[in-house]
Amino acid sequence: MESDCIFCKIAAGEIEAEMVHEEEEVVAFKDINGRAPEHVLVIPRQHVPNLEAVAQLPDRVAKRLLEVSSEIAGRLGVGASGYAVRINNGPDAGQEIFHLHLHVLGGRKMGMP
Ligand code: 5GP
Ligand code: ZN
Repeated sequence: MESDCIFCKIAAGEIEAEMVHEEEEVVAFKDINGRAPEHVLVIPRQHVPNLEAVAQLPDRVAKRLLEVSSEIAGRLGVGASGYAVRINNGPDAGQEIFHLHLHVLGGRKMGMP
């Protein structure tokens, strides 16, 4: 755990978030500033800052991030209508939180930028 990482603190229960899924190595919670009718963030409990560090995660955890994203989309009712899974990586993508996270966005048309 990184001591000043907001998402590490959310995963540890030290900062409140509207949790939608919790398991041993992955958690998911509503984005505090939802940009779509459904907007959930899926994160590994282990702190990795970005995709360049994804090899630090066990393979099963990297895979689980994708599986959980799909499971949550189904539970939120957007599995059939469709949804976007997005990772903002680095400055041009506007990455704000340097703890790897997948945005699951749905409930409206999610076009390419
Ligand atoms: P990114 O780093 O991919 O650009 O976006 C980080 C996302 O985290 C943003 O969509 C922002 O609204 C969300 N976020 C930032 N701080 C918090 C927080 O304390 N709680 C929750 N639930 N979401 C947060
Ligand atoms: Zn972290």
